[in-house]
Amino acid sequence: MMHKEISARYFEEAKKVIPGGVNSPVRACQSVGCDPIFVEQGSGCYIEDVDGNSYIDYVCSWGPMITGHCHPEINAAVAAALESGTSFGIPTWHEVELAQLICECVPSVDMVRLVNSGTEATMSAIRLARGYTGRDKIIKFDGCYHGHADSFLVKAGSGVATLGIPGSPGVPEEIVANTISVPFNDIDALRDVVQRDGENIAAVIMEPVPANMGVVLPVEGYLEAVRELTASHDIVLIFDEVITGFRLGLGGAQEFFGITPDLTTMGKIIGGGLPVGAYGGKREIMEQIAPAGPVYQAGTLSGNPLATAAGIAALEILSRPGTYESLEQKGNALASGYIELAKKYGIECQVQNIGSMLTAFFGQKGDVKNFASALTSNTDQYGRFFRGMLENGVYVAPSQFEAAMVSIAHSWDDIDETLEVAESVFKSLA
Ligand SMILES: *Cc1c(COP(=O)(O)O)cnc(C)c1O
Repeated sequence: MMHKEISARYFEEAKKVIPGGVNSPVRACQSVGCDPIFVEQGSGCYIEDVDGNSYIDYVCSWGPMITGHCHPEINAAVAAALESGTSFGIPTWHEVELAQLICECVPSVDMVRLVNSGTEATMSAIRLARGYTGRDKIIKFDGCYHGHADSFLVKAGSGVATLGIPGSPGVPEEIVANTISVPFNDIDALRDVVQRDGENIAAVIMEPVPANMGVVLPVEGYLEAVRELTASHDIVLIFDEVITGFRLGLGGAQEFFGITPDLTTMGKIIGGGLPVGAYGGKREIMEQIAPAGPVYQAGTLSGNPLATAAGIAALEILSRPGTYESLEQKGNALASGYIELAKKYGIECQVQNIGSMLTAFFGQKGDVKNFASALTSNTDQYGRFFRGMLENGVYVAPSQFEAAMVSIAHSWDDIDETLEVAESVFKSLA
């Protein structure tokens, strides 16, 4: 058994001053039946906890650390920015550079506004869509997560799903009444709502590849059909690419699938490990944002010098030839390794991956295509899987309804070692 005494003591102290001892719910590891570890430091794809245990990290800060921890170029960029001052509330050139990079890389983005988190990006995009269309309602999909703003806490994924919370107290009925949630991968369900209520619907917001109910792939033709349907009713289509942006490629899921949304939200990777979010899209819509237009949105720390320096460095690293091919090969190797092990030890487990993100859904025989089917997974078995991996030095997502993330710092040796650990864990589950 690994020593966890210091983590345990820290958690006790944390619970006295921070609700649940954590600053974001899934970190508490409740659904996988153990207490959290506290991290001391990270380097490349490894993290070390305060008790001196080392792990291969597949959470990667939930996506941002696609370059690995303490990447020397990102650290150097942040250190250089630090010398010039950490915040001004006055424009700096780095903000423009990061915006230029995003506009160059993401096909549908003509203009972009930087914010400080994914939640800020999605809630601002919804306000913009409402302001632009003059309509109030939005459609989202069961099990998709778009941050913790009121409008999105209806059948939401991620921590909301992990903790089994249907919605959230504190979200007024009037607000939720404007959010319609439909099953993912079911174009008829969406068409029904749009045909009935289309002229009141400002936006359809979706993770083009949902990763917050575990990784779920859009079925053939589905994204195309959503695009067509929204376009024909003048509904703003928002791709929430907070995870998929710069993960499935420099152009995100929209480039991967060749679909052009009207607005795109981003976060996670574009901050290189510092807090950044962004929303962007068609010039005509983006020019509605203040001070260019009347839709208000602001932020004291938005475009922060350290965060933009880190983001620019991260995107430059990712722009190098071969990055995404290598990430995809490793993601595929991990997925096929899990599939083989599940077969070998007779564990019912459906592994779904795209590029460098994957989920092993325990207790599933076939494709997991939507939230309802994801929820039938064997979460107890996932908990045993998580604890087994942890005990043997591999940190995977502490929830069935999340994705494992591979970074460019994971070497083939790390993948091999992960699969060796996974073999002992699958064996113990059998
Ligand atoms: C993480 C996430 C968000 C929220 O981002 P925060 O930075 O946690 O506020 C929104 N949408 C998706 C798809 C996410 O994965």
